[in-house]
Amino acid sequence: MQYLNWKINSSTRLICVIGSPIEHSLSPIMQNEAFKSKGLNYVYLAFNIKPNGLKAAIEGFKVMNVKGFNVTIPHKVSIITYLDSLDETALDTGAVNTVVNDNGRFIGYNTDVKGFIEPLKRRISNIQTMKVIILGSGGAARACVSALIREGCKNITILARTISKAEDLVTYIYKRTNIKCSIDLLIDEKISKVIKNADIIVNATPIGMYPNINESPIPLNLIKPNMIVYDIVYNPLKTKLIKDAEAVNAITIPGYEMLVEQGAASFRLWTGIEPPKDIMERVVIRELKGGEIER
Ligand code: NAP
Repeated sequence: MQYLNWKINSSTRLICVIGSPIEHSLSPIMQNEAFKSKGLNYVYLAFNIKPNGLKAAIEGFKVMNVKGFNVTIPHKVSIITYLDSLDETALDTGAVNTVVNDNGRFIGYNTDVKGFIEPLKRRISNIQTMKVIILGSGGAARACVSALIREGCKNITILARTISKAEDLVTYIYKRTNIKCSIDLLIDEKISKVIKNADIIVNATPIGMYPNINESPIPLNLIKPNMIVYDIVYNPLKTKLIKDAEAVNAITIPGYEMLVEQGAASFRLWTGIEPPKDIMERVVIRELKGGEIER
């Protein structure tokens, strides 16, 4: 993609992503192509910031008047201390993945919430009646649960390896929404029990992520054609779980769709204009097809 009018000059505003590790993030290439295509004078860079450097980094960003930034592992929760305010999505999840500089005030958002729900809404209109199983209870699972509850979904079961973390998630969500999710252990025996009544299965664990591409959190024989199978893992483009679900004709949602949607939502917050989602998606698919990237 060529954009002849795009150049970096003394008016260029910085937007970035901070995390550790950060070297394999697809956000710089996705956001820079989006800025270029819209002729916006922004540049997006990635910074490897360790936990002990977070405070200094945020102070530096304020002095430099950066336009905004993304936040990824391990800072999604610890960043909150350094922000001036949080919007509802950040409060609902207790985590921030996007910060906007609003006239010198740093405001935290969680665009994973919108990023998760948009691909689901493209497939179905009756989310509120669906029975959903979420695998995992980490940061991404929080965004998934919060997004589902925002859409009116009340029947959510979390299957987790560490029950205490799932309990923390459920307690947090209950305090915010008055909705109580169920919890069980993420083992085959429990999966086969709860999956019988499920309409939607969401993998919010890294199981199946590169390089473990032959792993899946759900045995093939438990996936039924009437299910929606959503794997938020985006590398590889088609995980084993997605391939297995396709093989039984289930509806599938691959994780790159969430990646693009959360990036598009961040773009909209920083720029105030409609994101070029088609370009962002093309860039992400191109990069992921270039080989299974270690990340
Ligand atoms: P996280 O905060 O580290 O949480 C990971 C969760 O998965 C935890 O509940 C963890 O359990 C569980 N888990 C990890 N390995 C497991 C295993 N082998 N068996 C069972 N459970 C396991 O990570 P996250 O930020 O939630 O991210 C989870 C995945 O989602 C990653 O692959 C990430 O790349 C992907 N993601 C995708 C998008 C997107 O836009 N598509 C956005 C965010 C995240 P314990 O608590 O027991 O450790």
